[in-house]
Amino acid sequence: MKIRVALPEVEILEIYGDLIIGGKRYDEAKIISLETESIKSKYAIFKTSDTGKVFGRFYKRRWELVDIVDDLGSAHRLAEKIRGEYRTWIEGWGGNLKVITLKGHWIVDSPLRIRSGGKIKIKSIVVGRGFHWERKEDLVFLGDFDIYAWGKDVRAVNIIEMEDYISSVIGSEMHPDAPLEALKAQAVAARTNLIRTAQSHHPSEPFDICSEDHCQVYLGLKKVSHETLRASSETRGLILTYDGNPIEARYSKCCGGITERFSVVWGGEDPPYSTNRYDADIDKCADASSEEGFLKLIDFEDAFCNLEFKGIENLYRWRVEYDEKELNDLVRRFYDINEVKSLIPLRRGNSGRIYELKIESDKGELVLQNEFKIRRVLGKPFLPSSAFKVDKRNGKFVLVGCGWGHGVGMCQMGSIGMALKGYNYPDILKHYYPHTQLSLYAEELP
Ligand SMILES: [Zn+2]
Ligand SMILES: [Zn+2]
Repeated sequence: MKIRVALPEVEILEIYGDLIIGGKRYDEAKIISLETESIKSKYAIFKTSDTGKVFGRFYKRRWELVDIVDDLGSAHRLAEKIRGEYRTWIEGWGGNLKVITLKGHWIVDSPLRIRSGGKIKIKSIVVGRGFHWERKEDLVFLGDFDIYAWGKDVRAVNIIEMEDYISSVIGSEMHPDAPLEALKAQAVAARTNLIRTAQSHHPSEPFDICSEDHCQVYLGLKKVSHETLRASSETRGLILTYDGNPIEARYSKCCGGITERFSVVWGGEDPPYSTNRYDADIDKCADASSEEGFLKLIDFEDAFCNLEFKGIENLYRWRVEYDEKELNDLVRRFYDINEVKSLIPLRRGNSGRIYELKIESDKGELVLQNEFKIRRVLGKPFLPSSAFKVDKRNGKFVLVGCGWGHGVGMCQMGSIGMALKGYNYPDILKHYYPHTQLSLYAEELP
């Protein structure tokens, strides 16, 4: 079964690979030399069957003919250096697409199907958009692409076999050296999320799921390892169901000690498999929704997710300090105030996550009613979670918090902790998604 995964939109899409565009194969650009002078101006000597040797210039994102040349010796040496780098640029062109290759440029309708003989590399993809780890990476993908004109930008949609996608998501969402049983639990959660999310997150868009944190992170072949391939093949086609339907298999980095319920984060009703529980082998769950209960949770140390693993940032407990000016500046990015006087939690979920926070300011009171918004307004650019207490000391606001992410469903650090303690993936999934069943997705049945 093939699925469609959208990468973030970009102004200009830069693609490398052995490509077939509109039936023409673009590994035949016959470039025999390329010298780079600067990003905006590149020179090349290349040859085509009809024009012979040509000296060209890459200028303002298009190639233009400059002169005929004879020096083939140095041209061949330079050609060796750039072998395999067949580049194509695509940009929006008034609702259509402008495709620029070494052979010239032309305008095509959107979407444009690009097929590959093997792998396709896309340059400078934004990873972790809006988070503190935001960066740009060159990523390599299997499968074909549909390229869409997307407002002023372009957007690439990768068309890929489901299990190839899952093998990458496992390593993109979890440390690739995590124990196999944790990778397998991640495989089932990611596959379930794909099936369920494909029906709800992007209903009117021409793809099933996006490659960012909004749906689930997908970074192509770079995150595929022997172990992630094994985790996807040993759980092939398996998803979690409740009453025969795929569940909302949410997961986040670290619950902080107690998992959170769906309704606290996204509102609505809680599905039967979304409960609060200690991330530990303890049946009865404490209540951290009161201030007193939350202080007790801060001292709770025996959670599966309280561990150091392969250099993953441990945010089981964290601490952030702001002086008054810093906090005022943070809140002022969103609201018209001068000075924050106090931060008062009004409502917490059972995991301690605040979902109603009062901000008292010189211009009156504000109430933030969403854990994500609370993390955004008080973070640079995000607080790890909304499970925190606030102490005001010596003119400073000190936030001491628990966990990383929304805390609903599977705790990824906790699943690593469970696997290290010898639990297998069905145990892990049962712990985080109680009352659910492992089922074979119907599309995978013969
Ligand atoms: Zn999405
Ligand atoms: Zn946890």
